[in-house]
Amino acid sequence: MTKLIIGHFHDDCLGGLEYLQSIGVESIANYMTIDKCKKIGIPIPSTPFSDSLTFDFNGEQIDCRFFGAGHSFDNITVWIPSKKILFGGCLIKARNSRGLGNLSDAVVEEWDLTIKNLLDEYSDIKTVIPGHGDIGGKELLFHTLELVKKTNKMNEKLKQNKENAVAFYKMSYEGNPLKATDLYVGTEYIQHNPDVADGKQGFIDYFEKMQVEYPNKSIEFVRVIAEDELVALHTHQIWPDKDEYVTMDFFRFDNNGKIVEHWDSLQQIPKTSANKNTMY
Ligand SMILES: [Zn+2]
Repeated sequence: MTKLIIGHFHDDCLGGLEYLQSIGVESIANYMTIDKCKKIGIPIPSTPFSDSLTFDFNGEQIDCRFFGAGHSFDNITVWIPSKKILFGGCLIKARNSRGLGNLSDAVVEEWDLTIKNLLDEYSDIKTVIPGHGDIGGKELLFHTLELVKKTNKMNEKLKQNKENAVAFYKMSYEGNPLKATDLYVGTEYIQHNPDVADGKQGFIDYFEKMQVEYPNKSIEFVRVIAEDELVALHTHQIWPDKDEYVTMDFFRFDNNGKIVEHWDSLQQIPKTSANKNTMY
């Protein structure tokens, strides 16, 4: 082994680099990868390149190229033109991958454009080697595009559900539970709070009564988290006479993006605390 091409800055591309460098292996990487290595304090590849690098390796042309972000902001591909082999790295998923995998450093919204750039450049790909899993053909690129589309759609749904949960809560809290229910609740509303009757009417009655008795109250949404069909809200509420509460609410959404079930937990904020961090 004399040369190593690093696909991106993750461990599965450059783990063990220190050892390889100690035995004289040249390590090739994109400038962005090198900058990231410097930033996070890991061994630094020896040979940088910008957008592309072509070199001869034992009579074989090797093309390293950055087509755009995807699995990470710095992921590159390697192309062997004479054999029409593409090393896609983690930018390309194997046939049996059901999702995009580790998204902690992903740029999902640019991923599809990156693959389209790749397809434009290499029209005659024969073999594709993904970062993990079985080797395939060009269809792996289309499979990855499908997964990106699915993920973007799911992210869009989660974002919409989060916005709707906040809007529903805010509107109800501020005295309009009837309108909020009309806009945001599905065919049923299963209530788990023991102070509120089940169903839509129970919810409306409770919040209308609250509005009459306590018109001056405020709410701040401190955290909003969504996963699958659930949205969790962490709120800080200030009621008359500086009476403060923190609540944690969970809403379940149906497939049409409507709220159909609710759980919550409330706590009055005590006057004294063993720490200075606040409850919210
Ligand atoms: Zn990775």
